[in-house]
Amino acid sequence: MDLIFCSLSSGSSGNCYYLGNRGHGILIDAGISATSIRNYLRTINVSMRSIDGVVVTHNHSDHIRGLEVFTRKNSIPAYATMKVRESILAAEKKISPGYIKEIPMRQAFSLAGFEIEVFPVCHDAPETIGLHISAGTKKITIATDLGHICQTSAPYIKAANLLVIESNYDEQMLLNGKYPQFLKARIKSDHGHLGNHQAASFLAEMAGDNLENICLAHLSLNNNTPELALNTLYKAFSEKGIDLNGHPRILVLERNRPSEMIKL
Ligand SMILES: [Zn+2]
Ligand SMILES: [Zn+2]
Repeated sequence: MDLIFCSLSSGSSGNCYYLGNRGHGILIDAGISATSIRNYLRTINVSMRSIDGVVVTHNHSDHIRGLEVFTRKNSIPAYATMKVRESILAAEKKISPGYIKEIPMRQAFSLAGFEIEVFPVCHDAPETIGLHISAGTKKITIATDLGHICQTSAPYIKAANLLVIESNYDEQMLLNGKYPQFLKARIKSDHGHLGNHQAASFLAEMAGDNLENICLAHLSLNNNTPELALNTLYKAFSEKGIDLNGHPRILVLERNRPSEMIKL
């Protein structure tokens, strides 16, 4: 099998994504338990030995919850930018510094046969990154925690054949929900999370022929539903006069369950 993407778990309660390339692979984040990661990889027939590393986007617990145990028990290194690395070590005292290798910001490096370039996104961690990954002619962009799509991140998002993008909350559900005012403000802010309408209007505006797959990611358990995220995106495309007709394919990633395997 050549290039495969599979979300093991996506959402505000835990994130972990698998990307495989001719028998090698990486994980992006380890925000679920090491046991769940192992079980989900087994479910999708991916050997632990084929995982060359875990690239970590930021230090929030829904992205690093299983990192210490997973890296230690399997002797698999994590990869993070200098600031993300420091913030993980500050948040997760048990993790050994030797298990986190430093990667450059906005400068390509190789891992598991991929060329990976990470870029900064606006989010309220000490630093948060998105990933732009190339394998042959295929480009994958993953941006799961961002308050808005800024000028730095937009080109990476536009260049993707497979795009994993946050669609965190439905604006009405958040407004009418039970969260305290400060938390609502945090989520909605430019350094919080991306709402359904924000993601949908950007995608309807930018989607080019190169975009083959959209995965809506990191849905809030309390402020969103897969149907709302999907319908908002369909509506935005239809308002632009775009007849989707299966291109791009759209998938909503679920929490605590591997997605279908997307082959590129
Ligand atoms: Zn976060
Ligand atoms: Zn998150």
